[in-house]
Order: sequence, then structure tokens, then C-alpha cells
Amino acid sequence: MIAANILSIKEKLPADVALVAVSKLQNPESVLEAYAAGQRHFGENRAQEFAFKQARLPADIVWHFIGHLQTNKVKMVVGKAELIHSVDSERLLWAIEKEALKQGIQQDCLLEVHIAVEESKSGFSKEELEALISQPEFRRLQSVKICGIMGMASFVSDEQQIRAEFRRLKHIYDRLQQSVFAGNPDFRYLSMGMSGDWPIAIEEGSTLIRIGSQIFTKTD
Ligand SMILES: *Cc1c(COP(=O)(O)O)cnc(C)c1O
Repeated sequence: MIAANILSIKEKLPADVALVAVSKLQNPESVLEAYAAGQRHFGENRAQEFAFKQARLPADIVWHFIGHLQTNKVKMVVGKAELIHSVDSERLLWAIEKEALKQGIQQDCLLEVHIAVEESKSGFSKEELEALISQPEFRRLQSVKICGIMGMASFVSDEQQIRAEFRRLKHIYDRLQQSVFAGNPDFRYLSMGMSGDWPIAIEEGSTLIRIGSQIFTKTD
């Protein structure tokens, strides 16, 4: 079932859109089922659960960290996740920089942007993002590589609203790519789209979708 779910999503993916299978709350056996179907990119949203699974699952899995990360847990994720999608505060950004510097590595990250109406969702507002990137310190990041942005649309059924939010995120992405990150090939990911809204996200320019329930929930 998991294999079939992955295949049916992959069939519809344009060549330039990557699939992250969100394995949070799934046991290692289910992850292995997806792995056997050829899936290599997996996403986790809790540091502890991520560490637990990474230790027990094949070493060639490419892990994505997609959840809110507390600064006191950066050690558990930096250098272990290929891409951290959820850098949602300046404090976290500097904590990751410090840890990556200490480890002597480069950590790929995305800045999370708040596009939904729900206050509960995290991320930089457009204004906060602008304030961040205009700081001289931002240009002095050595060990964090900013590879793009991530966002989550509102949890609503109104397709027009979801589309408008994704379009806003794409617009922010394009503006950054043409300004601060102009000519920077590292800046290449627009992470948007989940089980309920990924076809819309792709139409609006997503390059990375994060799918959990549509892969791991049995449907028949
Ligand atoms: C859980 C989660 C997903 C996947 O959600 P589904 O609706 O199950 O596909 C994607 N992104 C983030 C940040 C998540 O926490």
C-alpha cells in the first residue's frame, strides 16, 4: 500500500519537483516499506524521534528536518539532517550557525515563512524576513547555507485561499532569488505542499513537496 501510494504521487510529479516522505509518527518498519519502494528522502519533525529513526534505518536515507526546532536541541539535528526546512527565528538561525561552525560543517537550511492565517503556525513574516536579510550579520553566515524557503498554507478547504498563499510564498522566493541570493546556485528550494494541497503547490511553483498521510495512511 505504501509503495503504491508513493508511485501514484511520483507519477504526477514534474521532473524538477522532489518528494520528501514525512515519516513522523511512523514506525521504522513503515519507513522501510517506503525505502523498499525506492524512496530515499524522509522528513521528521521532532529531534528525538529523528535521532531514534536515523540510528535504526539505512545510512543512505536522506533526512529532512521539517518541524519546530528548539535551540537546545540543534546538536541533535545539525550535521545529521541534509536539509533543515524549518528555520523560523533568528535565534535558531544563529544557534545552527554556531553548532555547524563547531562541527566544521556546512548545514543546508530553508527559512520558514509564515503565510497562513493561523497564528499557531510558525515562520518569519515578510517584514521579519526583510529585517533579517538586511542585517550585516546575515551576510557573515559561514556555516549555514540558505538554500531556499518553506511555508505551510492555511488548513482550509478554500482552494483559492491556499493558492493565493502559495503564490505569495513563490513571489517572496522569486524576489529573494533576484536580490540577496542573485547568482547563488545554493538558493534553489521552494518547499511547499502537503497531502491536502500539493497539486496546487506544484502549479504555483513548488520544487519540494512534503507528504505524510497520503503515503503512510492506508486507504482502500
Ligand atoms: C506533518 C507535516 C507534513 C506532512 O503533512 P501531511 O498532511 O500528513 O502530508 C508536511 N510538512 C510539515 C512541516 C509537517 O509537520
